[in-house]
Amino acid sequence: MKRLKKPILSLTALLVIFIAYLLFNAFSFKSVQIKADPVAKLEIDAMSIENFSNAIKIKTVSPENEIDFDSIQFHDFNTFLKRTYPLADSILEKKTFNSFSFLYKWNGSDTSLKPIVLMAHLDVVPVIEENLPDWKHNPFGGEIINDTIWGRGTIDDKIGVIGIIESIELLLKQHFKPQRSIYVVLGHDEEIGGLRGAKTMGEFLKEEKVKAEFVIDEGGSIVQQMVPGIDKDVALIGIAEKGFVSLKLSVKLEGGHSSMPEKETAIDVLSDAIVKLKKTPFPATISPPIEGFIKYLGPEMPFVNKLVFANKSIFSSVITSIYEKSASGNALVRTTTSPTVFNSGVKDNIIPQSANATVNFRIIPGETIATVTARVKQLVSDDRISISTGEFTSEPSKVSRTDSFGFETLHKTISEIFPEVLVTPYLVVGATDSRHLNDISDNIYRFSATTLNKGNIKSFHGLNERLPVSDFKNSIRFYHQLIKNSTSK
Ligand SMILES: [Zn+2]
Repeated sequence: MKRLKKPILSLTALLVIFIAYLLFNAFSFKSVQIKADPVAKLEIDAMSIENFSNAIKIKTVSPENEIDFDSIQFHDFNTFLKRTYPLADSILEKKTFNSFSFLYKWNGSDTSLKPIVLMAHLDVVPVIEENLPDWKHNPFGGEIINDTIWGRGTIDDKIGVIGIIESIELLLKQHFKPQRSIYVVLGHDEEIGGLRGAKTMGEFLKEEKVKAEFVIDEGGSIVQQMVPGIDKDVALIGIAEKGFVSLKLSVKLEGGHSSMPEKETAIDVLSDAIVKLKKTPFPATISPPIEGFIKYLGPEMPFVNKLVFANKSIFSSVITSIYEKSASGNALVRTTTSPTVFNSGVKDNIIPQSANATVNFRIIPGETIATVTARVKQLVSDDRISISTGEFTSEPSKVSRTDSFGFETLHKTISEIFPEVLVTPYLVVGATDSRHLNDISDNIYRFSATTLNKGNIKSFHGLNERLPVSDFKNSIRFYHQLIKNSTSK
């Protein structure tokens, strides 16, 4: 008994040191939120709201099939922009790409300063005909009811288009003169890949050797009651976006009559492969955007959460397991695997000769299309299955810095307009047009000054898309302040 005392003592000592270490980290985990002085609320007049409503009425839909593309609507949108924003239309240089995408340039007085780029897209996703009865208001009516603006595009992304242009028109009326030049990139085909719009404009800017101080596009927003452990609203600034690849798995085997099936049919082989992929998810990891998320939000959390986040190298598996619990959290910590198409068979008594499935992967920064494909091939490892890559692919973006002028200006601007809101870097799980400007800047940020909560998060791309009038006003205030903060001293 006596002999054991010493090791127990030293074990206790070790435990005390360990706990002290954890506590020390938690107590020195300090807030990095900027406490800016709030700015006076800019008056937004009724005319601006009417302009937004009119923008919603124009059906700039990117259809599933190209044949359904309605060029008249896009033409009308151009006319609308010209008529509604005469100062922006005449003072800024404007170039048109592939008939319907627009690049504006507001020349700054100091050409030694790198320009900034503001992005948004003009197109919207279609409204599905059979869902029309479930819309509470006409999706292209632009109706304003109880301080809410209804319609397709209110959140995604006419708020961006009109927010940017309204703020510029206002600054022009106020005789504001930027020192730094401002580009506005308005693509017309974001919802179908952005190849004619943002991609072409990105290539043009590259040819012109434009290097931007920062780019800002949609992708993040102000979320309400959606970050566990945080009561306040949180502004998510996307500093990276996930990649995208779909792999098609095809099997061809002998078919036959279902009364005498072979041991394995095409459907069996393919199902086994899909099960393998689903049962072996990509490893969970804390990528740099999520590290940033922990750094910016950890100190704002209750003590226990703070203790875990302050010691993330020790508790990384605890942290990832917390995220893994929800679909949205899981998407932040790993490359996700989702079978989206499964095809085989035509008749109940015939064994089909072929089966194919498409599996969609959203790739986390740190992995690539090539590493994802290699892992899938290795996991499936069945010669009878051929694997091909889908048409639309996108590598994960670079990760933009948080110690840059762009991020700090965005952070400050958000704090000035929304004093109660916390700011954090974030990982965008979808793809945005900003990826086409990868060569133009190292600092690409994705943020819209609109609020998202459990009540409206499903409405964009879905039913009953709508936006509070206050969000619309705040968007104008946000761009107005961002332009002032980033282009003048
Ligand atoms: Zn969008």
